[in-house]
Amino acid sequence: MTIDDVLNDLRAKIGDKLPKGITISGLEFEGPELVIYTTEPRAFADNGDIIRSLAKDLRKRIVVRPDPKMLLDAEQAIDKIKQIVPAESGLSDFYFDPDTGEVIIEAEKPGLVIGRHGSTLREITKHIGWTPKVVRTPPIESSTVKNIRQYLRTVKDERKQILKTIGRKIHRPVSTKDQWIRVTTLGGCKEVGRSSFLLSTPETKILIDCGVNTGAESNGTPYLYVPEVSPLSNLDAVVITHAHLDHSGIVPLLFKYGYEGPIYTTPPTRDLSALLQLDYIEVANREGKRPPYDSAMIREALKRTITLNHGDVTDIAPDVRLTFYNSGHILGSAIAHFHIGEGLYNVAFTGDFKYEKSKLFDAAINNFPRVETVIMESTYGGMHDMQPARREAEVEIQQVIKATLARGGKVLIPTFAVGRSQEVMIVLEEAIRRGVIDNVPVYLDGMIWEATAIHTTYPEYLNVELQDMIFHKGQNPFLSPSFVQVDSPQKREKILADPSPCIVLATSGMMNGGPVMEYLKSYGHDKRNTLIFVGYQAEGTMGRRIQKGWNELPMSTGGKTEIMKINLQVTTVDGFSGHSDRRQLMEYVKRMDPRPERIITNHGDENKCLDLASSIYKKYKLETKSPMNLETIRLI
Ligand SMILES: [Zn+2]
Ligand SMILES: [Zn+2]
Repeated sequence: MTIDDVLNDLRAKIGDKLPKGITISGLEFEGPELVIYTTEPRAFADNGDIIRSLAKDLRKRIVVRPDPKMLLDAEQAIDKIKQIVPAESGLSDFYFDPDTGEVIIEAEKPGLVIGRHGSTLREITKHIGWTPKVVRTPPIESSTVKNIRQYLRTVKDERKQILKTIGRKIHRPVSTKDQWIRVTTLGGCKEVGRSSFLLSTPETKILIDCGVNTGAESNGTPYLYVPEVSPLSNLDAVVITHAHLDHSGIVPLLFKYGYEGPIYTTPPTRDLSALLQLDYIEVANREGKRPPYDSAMIREALKRTITLNHGDVTDIAPDVRLTFYNSGHILGSAIAHFHIGEGLYNVAFTGDFKYEKSKLFDAAINNFPRVETVIMESTYGGMHDMQPARREAEVEIQQVIKATLARGGKVLIPTFAVGRSQEVMIVLEEAIRRGVIDNVPVYLDGMIWEATAIHTTYPEYLNVELQDMIFHKGQNPFLSPSFVQVDSPQKREKILADPSPCIVLATSGMMNGGPVMEYLKSYGHDKRNTLIFVGYQAEGTMGRRIQKGWNELPMSTGGKTEIMKINLQVTTVDGFSGHSDRRQLMEYVKRMDPRPERIITNHGDENKCLDLASSIYKKYKLETKSPMNLETIRLI
């Protein structure tokens, strides 16, 4: 049976089920979806049950789109929408997606575009053919999101072709009766950095994560050249759990070496990955290193990225279904759950996860329809890797800041742009709003502002309380007037020259470069000031040296290295980590529903991976394994 036979077969089946008067003008696989084109999209929309029952019978994700000839030209459609929608709705942007036949309408007041019981939306559809979707205008504009959307618009025809090719590959008939499943470890085992796995069946090869160890002099990339993976054109799919470079950093390079397939990830991970990958290239260039790829490769990856929201069950190969679940680590981070065969086997890759509710995210999910093997992170898997509860960390940081401001000092917090910064921002906003700390400016320097803008673009990925504040109470903590973007060297100069108390959040998080160094040079001599570490400081970084108590530091200024004396107070506040501590890792497994059969540990120093694996075995009587890189484990 060929793929065209499959389509013809489906077309006949759908035809039989449709009520009279509804016709199909086209049927095509596009990426993981089966797309039905029709000249009567309204008839489908009015009979919501048709699509649901078709999806259930055919076991496919079905999308109905208006036949392209029904779609009004974009410019004319915008004019029409402006005529129909009341002016007070604050229309700010339109995004036509020919992939889906949808027009995304951005408005300050979405309710006015929707109308009573959706009446205005129906009116719009009738006149323009496109299916309107309304979103709230992101309150802080992200140039990353804007550029990505613009870019995808320019390559829309090519992308449609790519999606068709991918779709036909996904839905090809299964060709073998053999049944086995294997996981090959390509990086990130008994180490942190370059995370990558290959999941293979007789039919399919899937790469999960493709990270880089940015700190490594050599061995910084996964073992992609081994025969199991190479040639890369044989891979069916690449799945990315989250945007941190140790999981996504090498993805663009795949396209340089012949991969042409899809990247599956959540929408925030797509945008944050592009931001971090671009920064990775920039930093490498600045340090005189040769980056492994250029921005053209990042665009290739974007062109082939298929975004899935948490909970979407999606065919990504003839014998594999993927579902993402919240992992509570950073915006858009996900646990990748694979259902293999028809009920044959289930395996979940946790990526990095936090099994505790944080200021930004709900706790990681450990409740799956089925799961036999779990591959989990072990960053804090050692016996003594306990962190204080989130609440204690919040109180502690508030006290340190209060004391510093009271003596007329400034507070400097080095942070990673993505995740930790926003977590600390929420704590600071709340403390200032409640009067716990003085109302001083909080300066955000480095990529923090842009990363925050991406957070405000995807409020549905934040925890329930934040969503409630943003959507129902109209209070968005990220928009607090206390936060001030430092968007130019001149502005930084002005802040550095200003003697009044303030708080500065700046990158890089481990003080190996970035704007944070400028603040350290200026604030370091004054013992009234405080430097607060909120994240892990790796061995060999400036941050680690300061943490260890070094008070004379080599600093390079204008090409010359000088010794600088440090007098400011140095404090570490633990508990803001996006990773589960030892107790949370153990609880995560203990409370997993259903109980898995096997746990494989990775993403941690060797002793952490081993310690966690042996503790899980002893306490919960589950089979465990802590592989090295380049091992293959047969699951069935
Ligand atoms: Zn991470
Ligand atoms: Zn990681």
